Amino acid sequence: MPNTIGKQIKEFGAAARQPFSYNLRENIYIWFGVLWGLPIPLVTILMHAHFLDSKVLEGRLWGDILSSPLQWFFLAHPFVFAIIFGILGTIRYDKERKIKEMVEQLQELSIHDPLTGLKNRRYFTHIFHEECARSLRRQEALTLLFLDLDHFKRVNDDHGHHFGDIALQETSRFLKEQCRPYDTVVRWGGEEFIILLRATDEPAAIHFSERIRLGIQTELNPDLPFSMTISIGLAQYKDNDTLEDLTNRADKALYHAKQTGRNKVIPWSMLSAEANL
Ligand code: GH3
Ligand code: MG
Ligand code: MG
Repeated sequence: MPNTIGKQIKEFGAAARQPFSYNLRENIYIWFGVLWGLPIPLVTILMHAHFLDSKVLEGRLWGDILSSPLQWFFLAHPFVFAIIFGILGTIRYDKERKIKEMVEQLQELSIHDPLTGLKNRRYFTHIFHEECARSLRRQEALTLLFLDLDHFKRVNDDHGHHFGDIALQETSRFLKEQCRPYDTVVRWGGEEFIILLRATDEPAAIHFSERIRLGIQTELNPDLPFSMTISIGLAQYKDNDTLEDLTNRADKALYHAKQTGRNKVIPWSMLSAEANL
C-alpha cells in the first residue's frame, strides 16, 4: 500500500513537471478544474455582497474580499484546481497513449511472423476476402502462389537449425524484394510461403514464379554455405472461391511439383487440363 501511494506521488510529481499539464489548448482537464473551483470564490463574493451590503455601496467590496489570506485562498480555488486537474489530466493522457501504443504493438505482433518479419497466416486469412472483393470490383485477375523450400529438413540436419533460420530469413527477404508493394507475401508456416499477386493472371504469375525459382537457386545470399531450391504451385482466383478452395488448388499444384522432381513451377490449370485429357 505505501508503495502504491509513493508511486502515485512520484507519478504526480513527474506529471507536474510536464508542460502539457499547463497546456490550456490541449489539456481539457485544466478547464474542468477551473469550473470545479469556480463556485468557491463565487460563493465568497456573493456572501460578502449579501452580508456587507453597506460596504458594497461604499465601493469597498473588493478591498474587503482581498483583505485576508483566507479570502485569497478561496479566490484562488479555480486556479489551484486547474493545476491539480491539469496534472491529473496529463497522467490520464500518458496512460491512454501508452495503452494505445501497446495495443498497436500487439496488433503488429499478432499479424507478423517473428523470425522472418513477413506477414503471417492470421493476417492472410483476414485480408483474403478484401483482396477477392477488390479483384472482383476492379475486374482484375488475382493469383495465389504456394511456395515450399525443397528438402529443407536436410538444411537443418546438415548445417544446424541456426543456418536453417538464416536461410528462411534470406528467402523471405528475397521474396519480399521481388514483389510489388501491393502484393502480399506470407509465411504460411515452417518453410512454406504464400504470395498473392494482384492484377496478375496465370501466365504472368508463371513468369514471375520462374523468376523466383531461379532467384532462390542462384541469387540468395552468397555467404550461405549451401544452395536451395523451391517448388511453386499456383492457381488463379475464380468467382466465389473460398480461401480453402484457392489454397487447395495451389497446394495440389505444389504437390505435383514435389512429386515430379521439385525445383519446379506448376500451375493448377496444367493439372486440370491433364485431367481432362
Ligand atoms: P520437401 O521438399 O518435401 O518439402 O521436404 P522438406 O524437408 O522441405 O519438408 P519437411 O516437411 O519434411 O520438413 C520441413 C522442415 O522445415 C522440417 C523443419 O524442421 C523445418 N522448419 C520448419 N520451421 C522451421 C524454422 O522456423 N526454422 C528452421 N530452422 N527450420 C524449420
Ligand atoms: Mg519443404
Ligand atoms: Mg513443407
